[in-house]
Amino acid sequence: MRQVVLATRNSGKVKEFERLLAEFASDIQVLGLNDFPDMPDVEETGSTFEANALLKAREVSAFAHLPALADDSGLCVDALGGDPGIFSARWSGGHGDDAANIAKVLGQLAGIAVPDRGAQFRCAVALHLPDGREVVRHGELQGEIVNAPRGAAGFGYDPIFQPEGFALTLGEFAHGEKDRISHRGKALRLIAPDLNQLI
Ligand code: IMP
Repeated sequence: MRQVVLATRNSGKVKEFERLLAEFASDIQVLGLNDFPDMPDVEETGSTFEANALLKAREVSAFAHLPALADDSGLCVDALGGDPGIFSARWSGGHGDDAANIAKVLGQLAGIAVPDRGAQFRCAVALHLPDGREVVRHGELQGEIVNAPRGAAGFGYDPIFQPEGFALTLGEFAHGEKDRISHRGKALRLIAPDLNQLI
């Protein structure tokens, strides 16, 4: 059995990637950081999604002595010059305070009407192999920021993000439906064949 470590402590993300990978290869076991409890947290000091994903993939691979995959993602709002971008998780100060992050973005967009509320979720996924080979793939989901949060599904900025071609925010999407169109789903589907070929 071939093995890859996904740089996450979220077992839901591990299972999601396992399902996705099964379309390309059935002999790859996906491990998560819960399988390496002593792995120290990696500081995301890069200035792009790609740099942060590579940083995490390299450190996890070095620690586990296995191929490693890591993703980094965020929301980029056109009218804010691409912010919050790599700072998405900590936009309001505290790390991962979704309600405060949403309130800050909505405040910054006050007075700005559609069609000037365009935004994208972006994701970079990096694969690092112990022999130094690396691949990075990207995924993007285009949409707009609505005026007020709608829906309780998902996480982060989902309740204020309405994907292009939909009348629902991601917060109103049914369970599992988001994975088919999401930036992360796209990037992971792109890197799965690389993984199958390289490890
Ligand atoms: P991470 O790189 O997956 O940890 O994402 C960083 C931050 O970007 C998250 O804390 C969210 O604020 C935001 N973000 C990334 N992907 C999504 C998404 O699919 N929905 C909503 N927010 C997201």
